[in-house]
Amino acid sequence: VAVTVGVLGLQGDFALHMKSLYQLGVESKTVRTPDELKACDGLILPGGESTTFINLLKKTGMFEAVTSFAEKHALMGTCAGLITLSKTVVGGGMETLGLIDIGVERNAYGRQVDSFVGKVNVDLFPDNQEFEGVFIRAPKICSLGKDVRVLGRLEDEIVLVRNTRVLVMTFHPELTDDARIHGYFVKEMAGTGLSP
Ligand code: GLN
Repeated sequence: VAVTVGVLGLQGDFALHMKSLYQLGVESKTVRTPDELKACDGLILPGGESTTFINLLKKTGMFEAVTSFAEKHALMGTCAGLITLSKTVVGGGMETLGLIDIGVERNAYGRQVDSFVGKVNVDLFPDNQEFEGVFIRAPKICSLGKDVRVLGRLEDEIVLVRNTRVLVMTFHPELTDDARIHGYFVKEMAGTGLSP
């Protein structure tokens, strides 16, 4: 079965997610309007700036469209995409999609360690459980709801989680040549199998 994965193209590094999907031979599509979302089996929210995402989602009618899309489809979010999909943001005052029951703190590693690369231990693949995590002004996941499963850690820090339909991580797999997390999303969540 062929799967089409939409990548939210309102802002941020969406083209790199399309590169990762291309590496897997998976069809992808830039999504900017509710209409474009209709043709998709899953949606990726990229990194960027979460407050900008929320504003643009509202302006384009995509906030409601993504909310109803999530009733039947899978979503993946990286960094700002994770913040946008989360339930609560520490400090409050920020409206989010609330599609995964986590609390997050933005820019939580502070200015001194703006960006770094670290070894993430993932619980996703049969053999190699190590994934290169590229963290850029990354948030931290500080609370988890009961239905949220931990799938990846950077030392003691929880950095990759999912519920039934939403997979989120605080790092950027699209910035590496390792497309395994995208592959997991497509295979286990967005569709029944990778397209031929
Ligand atoms: N710091 C950004 C935010 O709070 C996220 C950064 C990123 O996506 N790389 O939205």
